[in-house]
Amino acid sequence: MRQSTLFTKTRREAPKDEVSKNAQLLIRAGFVHKDMAGVYSFLPLGLRVIEKIKTIIRDEMNGIGGQELSLASLQDSQVWKKTDRWDDVKVDNWFKTKLANDTEVGLGFTHEEPLTLLMKDHIASFRDLPKYVYQFQTKFRNEKRAKSGIMRGREFLMKDLYSFSKDEHEHGEFYDKCKDAYMRIFDKVGIGHLTYITFASGGTFAKFSHEFQMVTDAGEDTIYIDEEKGIALNEEVNNQEVHAIVGVNPDKFKTAKAVEVGNIFTLSTKFSEPLELNFTDESGKNNPVFMGSYGIGVPRLMGAIVEALSDDKGIVWPKSVAPFDVHLVLVNGSDETNARAESIYKKLVEQKTKTGQNIEVIFDDRDARAGEKFGDSDLIGIPTRVVISDKNKQGADGEYLVEVKDRATGEVQDMTVDELVEKLKTNV
Ligand code: ATP
Ligand code: MG
Repeated sequence: MRQSTLFTKTRREAPKDEVSKNAQLLIRAGFVHKDMAGVYSFLPLGLRVIEKIKTIIRDEMNGIGGQELSLASLQDSQVWKKTDRWDDVKVDNWFKTKLANDTEVGLGFTHEEPLTLLMKDHIASFRDLPKYVYQFQTKFRNEKRAKSGIMRGREFLMKDLYSFSKDEHEHGEFYDKCKDAYMRIFDKVGIGHLTYITFASGGTFAKFSHEFQMVTDAGEDTIYIDEEKGIALNEEVNNQEVHAIVGVNPDKFKTAKAVEVGNIFTLSTKFSEPLELNFTDESGKNNPVFMGSYGIGVPRLMGAIVEALSDDKGIVWPKSVAPFDVHLVLVNGSDETNARAESIYKKLVEQKTKTGQNIEVIFDDRDARAGEKFGDSDLIGIPTRVVISDKNKQGADGEYLVEVKDRATGEVQDMTVDELVEKLKTNV
């Protein structure tokens, strides 16, 4: 894509009321637009990142047997009354509204109830189980504090998966698979080294639930890490009984601020019983389906990546989620230099990686000063920058060399265009 055609502009300052680093950088670089506190729109660059994160999550969810659907946002209050969550004082973040005929409806903040009800049309016998169903869907939550940028939106995209199993044992097998899939997701998006499986209270249904907490000073949670075991506890479970069950030594805990990028829950029959999602087992007996739920906040994950990996110049995207693979920057110069940049751009966009994807190039062909272009390039944070200017060097045999800079390490290398193509092809 030609940067001269991109409608978004970078800006020097973030909005005055924006206190979080992730939103400040993402707004300045033109990835998101702040509509109001806790409400963000995603611009072309930001949407590309969201889509890449979704692809990584989708691959993993499909890999463990998930089937994707898309549930409605408007929810029937009658369904929620059956599980006592419509009027539950603990659920204080509902956006509730009314139809023209005064019927009460809610804007979904989660989807256990409508999905459990839906599954009644499809699950009748043990032969229909287990099933795993997920979606990427907008959740609405009337969050009290919305100071963490896109990590805590009042409207945000969540991947939520729900499992339907015959019993606790079958549920446990999937639960463990999903735990592994989650860690692979966080590895792939570049924050695995900072993310801990964290024991949290399981409510009334299971001893524990598990959170995936990424260590960052921008986090709203505090976790207690056992580095040797590579696990953590959150505040509400940090007591003697839990230390004994999990087998951790609190003397060795490292305390850290962290953000919950995902969580997984055993729901047991909390929803299937009141909504009567039952199945007949091999002996002909009727049983409630055993359920679990598994969430990842997509923009929260994007914000967490920015918090963890940016530097004082801007964002540093990992290759797996960067909006483009390469930032080709022309420092306008002689006709020859300008024509050279055009031809390199055309050559790069024709290439495919070894795994068959197009190489995604953003070409800074704008009529702007070199300093401005480099500043914007650092701010936007594409992993590889290629500079074409009058100053480009020649190789020993007179070959034309391009200057290639790694955004993360700052390392600069001169190489031929063919070497660059080869590097980008294997750069996955
Ligand atoms: P938190 O404890 O941070 O408020 P939660 O426990 O309410 O989150 P869930 O309802 O289980 O979160 O949602 C599943 C996932 O959705 C969370 O692990 C998190 O990644 C994400 N998430 C939750 N609330 C938000 C939000 N307001 N904005 C963006 N992502 C969110
Ligand atoms: Mg939580």
